[in-house]
Order: sequence, then structure tokens, then C-alpha cells
Amino acid sequence: MSAVLKPVESAAPAPVLIEARGLHKTYRTQDGDVETLRPLDLSIRAGEFVSVVGPSGCGKSTLMKLVAGLLPASGGELTLSGRAVHGPQTDVGIVFQNALLLPWRRVIDNILLQAEIRGLPMAAARERAQQLIEMAGLRGFENKYPWQLSGGMQQRVAILRALLHDPPVLLMDEPFGALDAMTRERMNLELQRIWGASGKTVLLITHSIPEAIFLSDRVFVMTERPGAIAAVYDIALPRPRSLDVMGSEAFAAYAKTLRAHFYAQGSLDAH
Ligand code: ADP
Ligand code: MG
Repeated sequence: MSAVLKPVESAAPAPVLIEARGLHKTYRTQDGDVETLRPLDLSIRAGEFVSVVGPSGCGKSTLMKLVAGLLPASGGELTLSGRAVHGPQTDVGIVFQNALLLPWRRVIDNILLQAEIRGLPMAAARERAQQLIEMAGLRGFENKYPWQLSGGMQQRVAILRALLHDPPVLLMDEPFGALDAMTRERMNLELQRIWGASGKTVLLITHSIPEAIFLSDRVFVMTERPGAIAAVYDIALPRPRSLDVMGSEAFAAYAKTLRAHFYAQGSLDAH
């Protein structure tokens, strides 16, 4: 990978990659309408790492599905790289809470699924998959089945599958929620490294305030359903960040500020 995109340090600000204006969503169900997202505006620049935190059921996953083009919006504007989002987007990689690996496929074939679905040339895809496996420290596990891997390794495979087609945008919906605390911290470091090395734009949904602060350039705080963006915080901690930063006063101050939102309005999404 060539130059690393760093929006803050570059002379000209990086272009806006994801933009929403008055975007809203109401699910129409047999029992009536469920207003899930109030009209919201957001703007994410190329190369930014943005996290979204908010109470359970406030519409975080809905927001991510709208950005991915997996759900139609009820109204408003949403663009990715300046183009209106209509239907599934090819420019994004998606990681869900559970690794969602196919149990009958080996690691390499789970990653290559992305290329098969997209009809990409297989020889090149295989080569890239090997590079990604190397990068993620999974060399030697290519031919294992998912059940032969730890939870953290499975989640790394899911991330590699999302990266295979080299999408400029990575959308992650509570990807580390099912992991133990130590594995989760390792995955946070790994994700920071992948992001730093690839210049990708990341939108991460998480219910962990420390995770959001540790990884992000900006944190969006959502209100309860119908969700709206209550506040946006710039996280001005120097990069690259080591886990030690979590013990700093600056980190504690961010955590306190973010937590205050949820003490004020109820509880944060938790499992
Ligand atoms: P979060 O990810 O923040 O927990 P979701 O986006 O999953 O929230 O859901 C937000 C709200 O929308 C919830 O009240 C949920 O019940 C409702 N909802 C989600 N998906 C659907 C659907 N397909 N049909 C009807 N209501 C839905
Ligand atoms: Mg969700």
C-alpha cells in the first residue's frame, strides 16, 4: 500500500466519502410503523475512523445497513463517494458481530467467498487472500475449518473476507462483541494497524466506550430510538495508540464525557 491517508495532517482535507442529509428510516410492519431513525446528517471523510455508540435498539445497525445499501431509506439523501446509495454497494466491506463463516469451508475458502460472489478473477484473489492471511497472523491456518479456530481468529477471518476486494470503506457492526476482553483488546490493536496501513475509511458500531475512544478519530453518540446523532466528539489522542493510552487522563476525560450521555438517557447497549 502506498501513502497512508491521514485526514488531519494532509494539507487539503480529505474528500467526504459518506454523506447523509436528512436521512431517516421508518420500518413498516404488520403491527404498524416503527420510526427508527430521525432525519440525521453526517459526513465522514476518506480515511477517517468513526465509531457510533448508542443505546440498544436506537438504530445503529439500521444506520449501517442503510450505508451498505442493504436497506432502503425512508427518505433523505445518502451518498457514498458522491454517488447516491441505491441497493448493495460494491465499495464496502461489512463485518457483523458474529463472524458468520461457513462451517464447511476452510479459512482460505471462507475468505475467497467474497471473490466468488463478486465474480472476481480467482488467481489474483487467491494471491491477495494469502497476503491478508499473512498480515493478520493467520499463516498456517489457511486450511483449518472455522471450528478449529478461536473466536478471535474467526473474527479476523471475517475481517479479511471483508477486505478481500479492497473496498475503500469498512463497515463493522459490533464486530468484537462476542469476544473476551483480552482478545478484544488485541483485535482493537489489529484493527488500528489494518486501518493505519490501508488508509481505509472505517465506520464502527460498538457498545464499548473505551473501544470507540481508542480507535476513533471521531465518535458519534446516538439518542434512544428513534435514533438521532446527539453529539460528535473529536478524539485528539496521538497515533499510533498503544493500549497504555487507556490509562491516561485524556482518555478518562473522553470516557467520562461519553458516559454522561448514557447516564442521562438510560443505559448503553450491553450484552
Ligand atoms: P441497534 O443496532 O441500535 O440495537 P437496530 O437498528 O437493530 O438497533 O433496531 C432499531 C429499532 O428498529 C429496534 O426497535 C428494532 O426493533 C427495529 N427494527 C430493526 N429491524 C427491523 C425490521 N426489519 N422491521 C421492523 N423493525 C425493525
Ligand atoms: Mg445492532
